[in-house]
Amino acid sequence: AKSAGKNRYEFFLKEMKTTLVDSLLLENELRRCIENEEMHLHYQPQIDLRTGRIVGLEALVRWQHAERGMISPMDFIPLAEDTGLIEPLGEWVLKHACERFQAWLMSGLNFGKIAVNLSTKQFRLRRFEQTVMSILMETRLAPQYLELEITESSAMENAEEAIHMLNCLSKLGLSLAIDDFGTGYSSLAYLRRFPINKLKIDRSFVNDIDEDGSDSAIAKSIIDLAHNLKLDVLAEGVEHLDQSHWLLSKGCNQVQGFYYSKPLPEAQLLALVNSDRAE
Ligand code: C2E
Ligand code: CA
Ligand code: CA
Ligand code: CA
Repeated sequence: AKSAGKNRYEFFLKEMKTTLVDSLLLENELRRCIENEEMHLHYQPQIDLRTGRIVGLEALVRWQHAERGMISPMDFIPLAEDTGLIEPLGEWVLKHACERFQAWLMSGLNFGKIAVNLSTKQFRLRRFEQTVMSILMETRLAPQYLELEITESSAMENAEEAIHMLNCLSKLGLSLAIDDFGTGYSSLAYLRRFPINKLKIDRSFVNDIDEDGSDSAIAKSIIDLAHNLKLDVLAEGVEHLDQSHWLLSKGCNQVQGFYYSKPLPEAQLLALVNSDRAE
């Protein structure tokens, strides 16, 4: 028993070392990847439930690693936040998204809005609104086409400061959405003071929506809350038609999810709208 314990301990040490070395390697690779702009963006359509039309696209970052394959943003965004790399990464995402959207507009394609995710650290950066403004000017994208998403938990953490930051951003003329709504602990008093345009119902409440359990009750109350605050409301992670029917019957405005489309690389997104046009 004693030697088994020792083995376990050695195993643990070895694991710990490889994790540490791994994350150092990964950090260097992430740094190089950002420098060489080896990231790319996928775009997931957002649909107006009443008309069935695309009214927005959410930009989602991808890291296709030469040896490790596709690394999920859930894994490298936290690493980027811990190492300060979120600043260049976030700027690359924002600039690239605005640049592509403006190019599509110029070619006669209007997807409504381009939604870009902001990490907690990123939107708290000093003078972040200046960064956004210079990217808009550089890419010539009119601000009404840009929507920034911040998660509920990041908005509610030090809410007074968040209100100040959101006001600065809102003054630029862009839209703001609260992401993953329902998973954090919103103070309604603060929510009322945020200069936001949209709530995005977290995917976890959309999963079992047609079964009329507690998740349906939560989704329904988020929809009502949004309407009372005169905000749009979008349900994330819609995978089945039944969910859309339920959401429409409860007054939800927009949907996004695999039922409509996965996040797509640019070429596939353009092929999708071109085939729609041909019909
Ligand atoms: P999120 O902002 O909540 O993005 C939605 C995630 O749900 C995406 O995962 C998307 O692929 C996935 N999804 C969409 N529809 C469905 C569906 O019907 N079913 C299921 N099961 N999943 C669906 P992804 O692209 O892996 O991104 C994960 C998270 O990483 C994002 O969650 C966001 O928090 C973060 N992220 C992605 N791109 C960026 C970025 O450019 N900047 C920052 N700061 N964070 C990002
Ligand atoms: Ca999002
Ligand atoms: Ca979300
Ligand atoms: Ca989520």
